[in-house]
Amino acid sequence: MKLLAFSSILFLIGGFCWEKTQNIIAKPIVNDPKNIILIIGDGTGLAQISAGFYNNNLSFSLESFPVIGFQKTYSANNLITDSAAAATAIASGIKTNNSVLGLNKEGKPVGTILEEARDSGFATGMVVTSSIQHATPGGFVAHRVARNLYEGITEDILNSGIDLFIGGGKQYFDRQELDDRNLIDSLKYKGYNVYDYFNNDINSITPDPNKKFAFFTADNQPLSAFQGRDYLPKATEMAAKFLHQRSELGFFLMVESSQIDWACHANQVQPLYDELQDFNKTIENVLQFAKKNGETLVIVTADHETGGLGLNPGSSKMLAPKFTTNGHTATMVPVFAFGPKSELFRGIYENTTLYNKMRTAFGFSEN
Ligand code: MG
Ligand code: ZN
Repeated sequence: MKLLAFSSILFLIGGFCWEKTQNIIAKPIVNDPKNIILIIGDGTGLAQISAGFYNNNLSFSLESFPVIGFQKTYSANNLITDSAAAATAIASGIKTNNSVLGLNKEGKPVGTILEEARDSGFATGMVVTSSIQHATPGGFVAHRVARNLYEGITEDILNSGIDLFIGGGKQYFDRQELDDRNLIDSLKYKGYNVYDYFNNDINSITPDPNKKFAFFTADNQPLSAFQGRDYLPKATEMAAKFLHQRSELGFFLMVESSQIDWACHANQVQPLYDELQDFNKTIENVLQFAKKNGETLVIVTADHETGGLGLNPGSSKMLAPKFTTNGHTATMVPVFAFGPKSELFRGIYENTTLYNKMRTAFGFSEN
């Protein structure tokens, strides 16, 4: 009996090795990431990153990324995209009209990378410095004709099944619906531990991985970094560790440094520098997690450039940043990739291609 068991183990090992060898002959060993952390700096073009570099003793966390590409950001109906069409392009791989979330040009809902990860058993999360209903996070979970349909977007978040979200916008959940529902209660009913900045210090919370996690950082929009907001680096690190515990298969985490865009719309240099410091620290923390974890692909990019920023000469030791518009511009934006499958992100491509590359990295089948 013992001998029989032993020989069948040998047979199993032998069979396994043979299969492995066959695979190696067929194609090189592929090292797929289990996790993807996508960091979007809203409005963060090359000039913004350069400004962050000059303002940070001539160094920036993005310098340690081995792979760099560029993406073309135009939308279906405008050479200059807005954040809704850009988020839809990145999340779903289609160009749609400005202001539209998660619908194609014909108005039909399109699936997102976050939803596909969820449906494949991965843990999912978003951490942002805007309201959670804002255009960029909205593009990953909402399907609405206009980005300002905040109540509808809130419903979509509630029904998204996302494991974790951290951001502003509490007011859209904390209200009585026509049918008398309070959506904070609905969140709890759906298995979330719900926290907010009024009652909790985000730095002192360790989320329970057996429950979903929601943290509201503001009633509407969180403070700017210039005004003292500083949660993004820590919250992002916490989110990655939490999602890592939530699923054996892996996770998808979207992180948005939302207010780089707002500083550039306002043409304000110091608030921009402060947002870039926060962005830099967030990327540092993510890299630290990814290096330790070894199975995490990190992608850092923007949805578009904002402000037409130029780093003009001031003095020999001082730049004089100048904005050419208070809107968005059409310049290509960089893509930085680190970790397994990062090589996919080399080159110049459409923003929609990011979706296909992320699917390939996750090993999702052709669709
Ligand atoms: Mg945004
Ligand atoms: Zn903007």
